[in-house]
Parts: sequence; C-alpha cells; structure tokens
Amino acid sequence: MVSVLNYMVVWGMLLLVPGILGQGDQYESQREQMVKRQIEARGVSNRLVLDAMRTVPRHLFVAEGYEGVAYWDRPLPIGYGQTISQPYIVAYMTELIRPESSFKVLEIGTGSGYQAAVLAEIVDEVYTIEFVDALAQQAAERLEKMQYNKVHVKSGNGYDGWAEHAPYDAIVVTAAADSVPPPLVEQLKVGGRMIIPVGGRFDYQYLRLVVKKENRVVSRDIVPVRFVPFIR
Ligand code: SAH
Repeated sequence: MVSVLNYMVVWGMLLLVPGILGQGDQYESQREQMVKRQIEARGVSNRLVLDAMRTVPRHLFVAEGYEGVAYWDRPLPIGYGQTISQPYIVAYMTELIRPESSFKVLEIGTGSGYQAAVLAEIVDEVYTIEFVDALAQQAAERLEKMQYNKVHVKSGNGYDGWAEHAPYDAIVVTAAADSVPPPLVEQLKVGGRMIIPVGGRFDYQYLRLVVKKENRVVSRDIVPVRFVPFIR
C-alpha cells in the first residue's frame, strides 16, 4: 500500500513540477520581451529599473482573467474602476526619480501595489497611500503574501502625504492631479524628486518632474500621459 502511495506521489510530482516550472518560464520570457521591446527600446536604461521590471510578476497584480495579457503594452483594469499603468510608464516614472538603494519613497495611489513592488525591488522603504479602502487592503495582503516587507500601505487621501515618515528622497504620484499638492512638496527632501501627472481630469496630462531645491522648486513637464483622476 505504502509503495503504491509513494509511486503515486512520485509520479504526481513528476507531472506537476514541469507544469509549474513551465508556467513560470512562460511569464519570465514574457517579462523579458516586455523589457526589451517596450521599455529598453523606448530609452529607459537604468539597470536597477530594468532588473526590477524583469523581476516583479505583473500577472499577479492585474484583475482576475487578465493574467494572460499582463505583459502587453497597455494599462489594465485592477478593479473598482482603477487601472494599473502601462509597463513602460511604470518603468519611466521609476527611472525619473533616479532611485537608489538607500531611498525612502512615498507613492500616492497604491492601486494594485505593482508600482510599489517595482520600487521595493530597488529602494530601502516604500510608503504608499490608496484612497479606495478595498484596494488598499487587497494590495497590502498581496504584497505581504509576496513578502514585499519594505512596502507600507495606508488607506487615506494622498493629498496630505504621510507626514509621520517624511522627508522622502522621492515621491511618485500615480493619479492625475490638477496641481501639485503643497503637502507633498513639503514632505520631499531638499534635492529630492517628485514625479506626478498634472492636468485636466478628462483628457491627457503631463508627467511633471518636480525637483526641490534649497529655496525653490524646479518643475519640468516631460511627456503627455493619461492617468485616472486624483480623488479630492
Ligand atoms: N500605482 C498603481 C496604479 C494606480 S491607479 C499600480 O501600480 O497599480 C491610481 C490609483 O490612485 C487608484 O487606485 C486610485 O484609487 C488612487 N487615488 C486616486 N486619488 C487618490 C488620492 N487622493 N489619494 C490616494 N490614492 C488616490
């Protein structure tokens, strides 16, 4: 009886393991293609960013049923009417803050937690705020399961930032605001960089790079983008 059981277990494993590995490989090669064709080809060259994009399993962050298209060159639904940005935009925004391993970063608009995970592959601590309570909870659970212990999720209005852990080396805002929220500028370190889509609610916005200097703020609009609106 025991030997029959052993036999079944061994064969079961032989059948299962390649199945699991095969699936893993399939997503891994999709990620590799995504990085080459969508991200490197458009000029993102920061090694840390490219490696992070190669590592984070984007298919585990999209809404159910979208796993098969998770690595396509487009934004995707994550539930509650919200979307996860196109991979290139996530990579480009991450490159624009010039991330370093010692950084403490604040993200506004946790959504699925994907951008936070990409940041966590590179930097030391990530604080992220999500307005929709259910999304915040889902993202926190997902990130915990994946052992992204450096990411701290809070539900609330990101307009006010997260003063308790300020100042931040960088701030990444992933919802479109009409203007740059002053509390976020306040919570940025001198020399720190913030990337934020700014513009009208219904058409496109510009990705704005804000650099905080000693006594002033220098801003530059970079590329037109489309983000879901910042909730006030
Ligand atoms: N960065 C996310 C995608 C963000 S979509 C990801 O990687 O999946 C934008 C998110 O910003 C949405 O989830 C939306 O609910 C959230 N949001 C909008 N206004 C907000 C606000 N004032 N404070 C915090 N989050 C906000």
